[in-house]
Amino acid sequence: MRRARLLCVVILLGLLMACSGEQAQDPSEAPAAAEPTPERAPELVQPTEWWSVHPRPVYASLEKVGTYQDWFDVYMLAEGTYAIYEPNQFEESICYLVLGEERGVIIDTGNGIGDLRAVVEELTDLPVSVVNTHTHYDHIGSNSQWDEVSVYDHPDEIDRLQTGIDNARLQRYITDEYLWKPLPEGFDGATWTFPPTEPTTLMHDGDLIDLGGRTLEVIFTPGHAAGHACLLDAANRILFTGDHFYPGPLYAHETDVDIDLYVESNLKIAARVDEYDYVCAGHNDPWVGSEVIPRVSEAFDTIFSGGGEFTEGDGLRRYRFDGFDVLIRSEQVLAKTSS
Ligand SMILES: [Zn+2]
Repeated sequence: MRRARLLCVVILLGLLMACSGEQAQDPSEAPAAAEPTPERAPELVQPTEWWSVHPRPVYASLEKVGTYQDWFDVYMLAEGTYAIYEPNQFEESICYLVLGEERGVIIDTGNGIGDLRAVVEELTDLPVSVVNTHTHYDHIGSNSQWDEVSVYDHPDEIDRLQTGIDNARLQRYITDEYLWKPLPEGFDGATWTFPPTEPTTLMHDGDLIDLGGRTLEVIFTPGHAAGHACLLDAANRILFTGDHFYPGPLYAHETDVDIDLYVESNLKIAARVDEYDYVCAGHNDPWVGSEVIPRVSEAFDTIFSGGGEFTEGDGLRRYRFDGFDVLIRSEQVLAKTSS
């Protein structure tokens, strides 16, 4: 979950208008019994007219395969590597279809709007299974379209899959403020649910996923979520980062984010930056130069040493760096800088 740089006008509006006490967009980050509220997220988190970021510049340089169901834009990033992007909903989720010689995986399944499996089946005849980087709602939406689902072996991730998400808790994600364009034909918001599912494979740090002539390494990167994992395709020099990194506001402010673990995880993948050239992120832009990863570590060093430029409102700070932002609660920064 993330968002791009919307600028001064929006921020001023935000300071005047943002009043919601609820900052999470993600029902999986709320208490299990919580109902969605109709209140807006703070402007620093979800700018009014967030869609003004479109078209994001990187897409003009990518090879577009097509638009499916008036909802998914598909790009080929490298041979057997597709980004399936949902530009019309605030999350701007990106799923990745990664194909080997014998089988493929779909890395995350978006927010379940549109028929993701139908898109995948237009792109390949190989058998495909799901790998979730983590289990926030905007990464598991179409999981139930597949029989095989891999997730990191952590109780939080397993529980979220086993619980599913009911229709009431999903409603806010298809309100007007979340949508840029109409929902796809055939989508029924009144019956939209994420049914409970059982993971079929539990992943561990260092596991190798063999696709036949192509291997993905599981790298445990807790912080954004307790059981978050990145996937390294070393032969093709690509790191799939899920929500550990995306070019937008990184959500350090969410109550279930563990910043210390996040920073530690970032150091872990920064130490291996010579093994990948590109980052395939879970949102916004699918093709980001790997040099950004060490800069994320530097950004947190800057914030926690009292530096960096930020806008503040609703107890939040939005720090701006080259290629990404950091959303963090003011009290988190003050606690760090005073210790
Ligand atoms: Zn997430």
